Amino acid sequence: MADSFTLTARWVFPVSGPPLPNGTVTVRGDRVEAVDARGVRSADEDLGNVAIVPGLVNVHTHLDLSGARGLIPPTDPDHFTDWLRGVIAYRRSRTAEQVQADVRAGLAECMRFGTTLVGDITAGGASWPAVSTAATRAVLFWEVIGLTAERYQPVLNEFGTKAGLSWSDDTPAVYPATPLCRWAVSPHAPYSANHDYARGQLLMGNVAIHLAESPAELELLATRTGPFVLLLKDLGAWEPAALTAGLLDFFPTRPTLTSPPVLYVHCNYLPPDTPFAPSQSVVYCPRTHAAFGHPPHPFRDFLARGVRVCLATDSLASNPDLDVLAEARFVHSRHPDFPPDRLLRMITADAADALGWGDACGSLEPGKSADLVAVPLPDRDAADPHDLLFADHPGGRRTLFRGTWRA
Ligand SMILES: [Zn+2]
Repeated sequence: MADSFTLTARWVFPVSGPPLPNGTVTVRGDRVEAVDARGVRSADEDLGNVAIVPGLVNVHTHLDLSGARGLIPPTDPDHFTDWLRGVIAYRRSRTAEQVQADVRAGLAECMRFGTTLVGDITAGGASWPAVSTAATRAVLFWEVIGLTAERYQPVLNEFGTKAGLSWSDDTPAVYPATPLCRWAVSPHAPYSANHDYARGQLLMGNVAIHLAESPAELELLATRTGPFVLLLKDLGAWEPAALTAGLLDFFPTRPTLTSPPVLYVHCNYLPPDTPFAPSQSVVYCPRTHAAFGHPPHPFRDFLARGVRVCLATDSLASNPDLDVLAEARFVHSRHPDFPPDRLLRMITADAADALGWGDACGSLEPGKSADLVAVPLPDRDAADPHDLLFADHPGGRRTLFRGTWRA
């Protein structure tokens, strides 16, 4: 039988239950064996003035843009396509070697902040070599761009071949899924992906799509006019016949309980009464949203309707870092009345559910993976310990992944 050890700290946040002062987490092998209140077990190691929280889950980033920190300043909402032009120019300037280095740097940053499950959008599978061999769980979303079949079909063919999903192809997969690194797909956005293809994928699940991010996107979908027309023409990609859907056509007319996960990323301008299935999630990227100066995000309206909302960092092309806890701290500082236990779920349990990993991780419960982060706390007291966790406080975090401390 595998060795076990018991950790304690000033606070343990199981997420599946209330915070435990000086609680303990007992790990056996790669699993959580027990989570107990103070006094039930003696600890082998006291981590001190830290919060033990489940491994953090960042459901949406683009690791390949990790070299772009500070290089493409977010615009105001009405000039969003100018920022997109900057991202496209940046991407075209990077060599394959630079992209690999950027992915590794971004992944290292995610992991340093305590991320143990990441959802990454990857063009051409570039994230697979680094992510699939790292001590982390991941869902890699193969990015599909192309309004016409001539453009997006080769992308799908490459995905099928490289990920080993093609029934008709005997070529060994160069980027096979692993037990910890799963494949999904991302029709990029309604302005860049064929609508009929995207809607078909959304019905099948395991999909992420950027949606309702900017006023220009809404204008394109409503009237086929606006800044996106100019951008697409400049790119030689203006194909109005591929734009068959309106904004709400990207949502199920009959949501089912069993459909696999779908992540709708941003939703900055999505009507709060949009119909969602239980397996579908809104992904809110708070600091990126604020950097663009969008109107207040409707995340509280979605939550009030029972829609799952997760937080994420998006990429370093729009965000200062890849710390998803800093996203929660940002929301806490601007919405001090928002329930902090719910906020913690949005970067742990709910986020793991959104990526389809909720049975394995996202909370500290017996049988789940022993993925946890020790987050340094300030030297003061608070009526609610979440206020300590969500206070801006420096200090390195230690991460246990599958029962082993990361170096
Ligand atoms: Zn994104």
